[in-house]
Amino acid sequence: PILVIGSLNMDLVMRTPRVPQGGETLFGHDFATLPGGKGANQALACARLGGHVAMVGRIGDDNFGQVLKSGLARDGVHVSQITVTGGVTSGVAMILVEDIGQNRILISAGANGQVTAGDIDGVAAQIEQAAMLVVQLEVPLPAVLAAIKHAHAAGVPVLLNPAPAAALPDTLWPMVDLLVPNESEATLLSGVDVKDTASAAEAAAVLRARGVRTVLITLGAQGVLICDAQGVRRLPAQKVKAVDTTAAGDTFVGGLAVGLTEGMSLDDAAALGQAASAICVTRIGAQPSIPWRSELTPTERA
Ligand code: ADP
Repeated sequence: PILVIGSLNMDLVMRTPRVPQGGETLFGHDFATLPGGKGANQALACARLGGHVAMVGRIGDDNFGQVLKSGLARDGVHVSQITVTGGVTSGVAMILVEDIGQNRILISAGANGQVTAGDIDGVAAQIEQAAMLVVQLEVPLPAVLAAIKHAHAAGVPVLLNPAPAAALPDTLWPMVDLLVPNESEATLLSGVDVKDTASAAEAAAVLRARGVRTVLITLGAQGVLICDAQGVRRLPAQKVKAVDTTAAGDTFVGGLAVGLTEGMSLDDAAALGQAASAICVTRIGAQPSIPWRSELTPTERA
């Protein structure tokens, strides 16, 4: 299976005409508690898009944790390595969505912050047998690094979604087969201000020069910039009416991982990811917005 190691968060989402300033109180609307967390979103995207997927992570000893875990299990994610940690809350993200569509997100790591390199030793056998390792940066870096090292040593392809953006050690890059940042993450990692196709290509070249095999920079409505040994190209996104881009990147990662582990070419797998994320952005929330493979058109599915 695809093995996702990462975070589970309950998203507390409220929409608002505009975000409040310091000292100001406003009425928002459409409050909802929606399961999220980049790790859980990506695992769920893999499952809904037809992948065989297991997740490793931690939840708190609380109701949010149970809801998060059972939601993943219901859609077919193997959850036996999602463990309950006493004395902490489950991860929570407070998300303000402006009606024009921009998100502001504040995260409490909670149990996600307790994932250790020791946890990774405990799932060494699962990593070795994985079709692909998928990781993000919402759990502590030592755990992410341990997982990447282990997968790389076992010849398991490593997909790193470097989100939220953080400085990373130089030794990491040669162990990353697929790096999937968005524009702001690519900017922080490469030092190149990514704002269009040309600057994205420049950033991707910087990252490949460090030893990353393949770089895919997601460019929102502009699609995705792919840079690998074959060269550089941009695949355009579908034209849709976006209402909430939460989990767009996670859905893309899921589709990409599923496509590649099914044996698709890189570009076809990226197209699968983009077809799925185009649907995701037309719906509200993280996990509720992630589509099933059957929702794609027959050409997109194949
Ligand atoms: P993130 O959510 O991580 O910031 P992006 O915003 O770059 O990631 O979106 C990831 C992918 O989702 C894009 O590459 C694209 O395929 C799709 N996507 C995002 N926004 C839109 C949009 N407005 N219209 C169509 N597709 C979109």
